[in-house]
Amino acid sequence: MSTAIKEPKPKQASPRDYEGHWKADGSPHAHAPKWAKYRTEMTSEFPLPYRGGKNDVLVEHIGKFVKKLDLLRPEKDGPAYLGDKPALTWTYPEVKDVKIGQKMGDLDGVLDEIVKMFNGLGNWGSPLTMCNVLPQGNTAAILASMMAQVFAASLIEGEYSWNVQRAELETAGMLGNLVGWDPLKVGGVFTWGGSGCWTYGVKYGITRVLPNSRNTGVRTDAKLICSEQAHYCQQNCSDWTGMGMDNVIRVKTDVKTNGMDLVHLEEILKDLTARKIPVATVVCTMGTTDSSAFDPIGKVRKLMDRYPNPPGYGKTVLYADAVVGWSWIYFRDYDFAGNPLGFSESVLPILKQNGQAMKEIEVADCIGIDFHKVGFAPYVSSCFLYKDAAEFESLHRRGSDSYLQVRTPYNPMYYTLEVSRTAGGALEGWATLKYFGIEGMQAILGGIMETKHYLRDLIDAEPDMVCVNPDDTGLITLYRVYPKGTNAKVQFQKELSDPAGRADLIENNHLTEAIGNKLFEWIRDGKKVDGKFTPWMSFSTGFRVAEYNRDEKDPEEVVFALKSFPMNVFVTPESMKHVLRCVQEARDEVLKGAGEVSPKRDGLKGHRLVDARKTA
Ligand SMILES: *Cc1c(COP(=O)(O)O)cnc(C)c1O
Repeated sequence: MSTAIKEPKPKQASPRDYEGHWKADGSPHAHAPKWAKYRTEMTSEFPLPYRGGKNDVLVEHIGKFVKKLDLLRPEKDGPAYLGDKPALTWTYPEVKDVKIGQKMGDLDGVLDEIVKMFNGLGNWGSPLTMCNVLPQGNTAAILASMMAQVFAASLIEGEYSWNVQRAELETAGMLGNLVGWDPLKVGGVFTWGGSGCWTYGVKYGITRVLPNSRNTGVRTDAKLICSEQAHYCQQNCSDWTGMGMDNVIRVKTDVKTNGMDLVHLEEILKDLTARKIPVATVVCTMGTTDSSAFDPIGKVRKLMDRYPNPPGYGKTVLYADAVVGWSWIYFRDYDFAGNPLGFSESVLPILKQNGQAMKEIEVADCIGIDFHKVGFAPYVSSCFLYKDAAEFESLHRRGSDSYLQVRTPYNPMYYTLEVSRTAGGALEGWATLKYFGIEGMQAILGGIMETKHYLRDLIDAEPDMVCVNPDDTGLITLYRVYPKGTNAKVQFQKELSDPAGRADLIENNHLTEAIGNKLFEWIRDGKKVDGKFTPWMSFSTGFRVAEYNRDEKDPEEVVFALKSFPMNVFVTPESMKHVLRCVQEARDEVLKGAGEVSPKRDGLKGHRLVDARKTA
């Protein structure tokens, strides 16, 4: 193909042209090309590489930005969200119909737009916030993470993170010591969440048990064993690792403890052994998200030792999913007799029980730890901790990397899933461990437990309310409220254990859901009860089944419940009392709306705004 018009030949640039774009003071000449002018503008708006510039834009804008962030926060006793616009400001999918601007943007304008996005976001530090395991980040962790952003340390390898590597190495050491492992032998990598830790645990098992799989792919249907209460990210992990979701075997759980049923586990292991099928990973959940159930990990380990994989396969990996429950390890060695922190008699036995449940976690090969859950740090700060660094790191070792040179003794690039990896998570974890110390973490956890028990006592004193997870040892309170005049304790018992209570159970499930949705609506409507804004809570649409539905055949015979997780340090006894007032008020409003004393389903149907999966 030939074209009629000849492209003009670009003028050959000389080195002098480049030198001639700028004046001695760094400003561009009028004749400088447009790219050079943009570049000059950027050098005035990027962070200065050295100290003391009159106008380091980063420092100046952090100051401005902090003021704006402060304005986003409500006045004292304000609502549970930031800013002054509780509604969504966009529609879907139209929001995506947007293009990159042709011209360079205006720095101030971009920052203003960002601040606007936070308008209306839930305020995790508000004493009204108790909806889920969403902790407010502690100051040390937030600033540690900011350092990682400003100076962009990458934990890919030593040259790019230098002394910042200590954050990951020392965190692994501190956590290893906490667990009871030899700190010199442990390793830990920060990754993208509790599901990232799970993925590492599954992959460790696949690699150890099926060594050829690294080259050939997973060609054997090796199994993944976890309990029926294990987190739903089992699907992500078995799917994305190529192990296959059909290879997950779920062990029944004990009706009382919600922990793995050892008899059923043994049946499974015996059967797999007889059929010569290997198990890649066994997952013990050490603290489920809602009910805080612990699998009996010590006994699981003994069973695994009794049923080793068939010849030719490696040894099964035992992964402890402690992403939400890990901080209970802090109570393993608490002096319960002396009680130096002075916890009340009613919570001491529970703290002790949780500490004891964590005692045997040291038999795991690896453990998942989320600092962004009960570690009071921002995202993304999940640590995959492994007992035998030499083994894990050599098993997953890849060859040398031609772009990078080894400059320090620590080079995770050879075995991590990630390539570039922010140091933000490791710094957040490190800062949190250092800042809280043992007693700080014990105080904050024990304090939530004290608050929870206070709420339980308040609920017990209300005739129309009932706590429906009184035996849980975790930090969440689940409860139901009934129409005024109902004896809630008696009514709930009937719904839970008597098949004749089935219709009531379902009807009051709908009432519970409607109250949960009403409370959510109120937050966004700026509703006040007794002159105060209303709490941000959530609800569960089936945290357990009715006793006559043990085989889980009937999806309707489950228990809905309102949920309070008062995990931030600003929650007070006053806020807990206010919560119950608001719940009763919401119930009255729902029943009024339904137009009759006994709510009919249709009158109560609300859209599900709240994430209400069994485990959040
Ligand atoms: C939250 C949770 C996960 C998933 O963790 P993410 O950090 O959300 O990825 C896994 N297991 C348990 C028990 C959890 O509570």
